[in-house]
Amino acid sequence: MSAVAISTNSDHYDVIIVGAGPAGCSCAMALKNSGLRIAIIDKHQFPRDKVCGDAIPGRAIKFLHEIDPHFAARLAAFTEKLPTRSTVCYYNNKKLDFTWTLEAYTVTREHFDNFLFAHLKTSKDTDTLEGIAISDIVRSENGYSVIAKDSNKRYDCTMVIGADGINGVTAKKLTARHMDRKHHVAGVRAYYSGVTGMEDTCTEVYFDRKYLPGYFWVFPIKGGMVNAGMGILSDIVVRNKINVKNAFYDFIERSAVLKEKFKNSKHIGTLQGCGLPMGSRWVEMSGDHFLLVGDAASLIDPVSGDGIGNAVLSGKLAAEQVKQCFASNNFSAAFIKNYDRVLYKRAGAEMRRKTKVLKTMARMPFLFEAAFIVGQNRVIKKFMK
Ligand SMILES: Cc1cc2nc3c(=O)[nH]c(=O)nc-3n(C[C@H](O)[C@H](O)[C@H](O)COP(=O)(O)OP(=O)(O)OC[C@H]3O[C@@H](n4cnc5c(N)ncnc54)[C@H](O)[C@@H]3O)c2cc1C
Repeated sequence: MSAVAISTNSDHYDVIIVGAGPAGCSCAMALKNSGLRIAIIDKHQFPRDKVCGDAIPGRAIKFLHEIDPHFAARLAAFTEKLPTRSTVCYYNNKKLDFTWTLEAYTVTREHFDNFLFAHLKTSKDTDTLEGIAISDIVRSENGYSVIAKDSNKRYDCTMVIGADGINGVTAKKLTARHMDRKHHVAGVRAYYSGVTGMEDTCTEVYFDRKYLPGYFWVFPIKGGMVNAGMGILSDIVVRNKINVKNAFYDFIERSAVLKEKFKNSKHIGTLQGCGLPMGSRWVEMSGDHFLLVGDAASLIDPVSGDGIGNAVLSGKLAAEQVKQCFASNNFSAAFIKNYDRVLYKRAGAEMRRKTKVLKTMARMPFLFEAAFIVGQNRVIKKFMK
């Protein structure tokens, strides 16, 4: 498809992507060679940290291969990653293990996001603007003006892609959405060294009846470290007055397996928290001249807590929609709505199904235990993946 670039003014972009996490970078990568003039703007200088479990799921890697035919070669040369081949889940002294068929990794987000962003700097049709926080987005005659917080500088564009994560400005300014605790998880994570009994290629997930359907994870990362963390539904946090940081340490104390593993470990840095917007509710994610992707569109898998898979998928699908908009010179909400429909088909419908099952299990923990007993069953394993 040949897209028509409509701008000549240097301050005017065809597309501005706000946020350079996996969603924004994937979208920019997928727009490469489209003939459109792109800017990707992030409030941080890269490399930057992002509170996360650092597990890059197989779906994310698969979609990145689809976006960029040269991704495999670059990934092979990226030495910070550790391959993930299996996951073990623990509940009430019962164990359930999964072997992954898709190529998956653990790598700190500082390294992974920088790996994606650095590649965009080599693209001649993409301006990578770092250290610029966007504070406002206002409608202009032919699209939007994106306003930088410190300098008040305006960046004009025909289309805006909101890729600025859970606390970004785009969803707030462009939609009427509010945080809903029933579809939001409170997460914390810390780095440790000296955790014993880990296998480099195996991630571990722990459940405890006290915190269901939340869970605790221990993911090995390069250099003999682990990323350990915990997530609990925010509605439960508020109802049961849970302090999530205290719950993290309590979880280790309550599990004989974790206690043993962490016995001689060293806490590195601080325990940090961040919210996870779940895809268990389908939200407004597009309109006239704009699209939202990744966490800005609330797309985290409600069962696995994996958000990077859908961040990359939504970035890819958003780029396809953007190309269609320019090719047909149609930037109307009705036309762009096709993006929501395709994304729902590819990811939303399944997340809805998973949410229903998860809610039932959370109400009846014996069902959860039963899943561990019959869990070696192929069908159940497939659902939990
Ligand atoms: C504790 C925790 C553990 C998690 N573990 C995993 C995991 O192991 N695997 C997994 O797949 N997912 C995990 N997730 C979810 C995952 O982190 C997100 O789904 C993913 O980061 C979404 O990518 P994104 O690009 O949409 O947003 P982000 O990665 O949040 O990127 C948004 C970008 O926008 C920038 N930005 C924000 N505001 C502005 C602004 N005003 N102006 C300019 N730039 C701005 C930010 O600096 C950032 O670079 C976890 C989340 C949490 C909180």
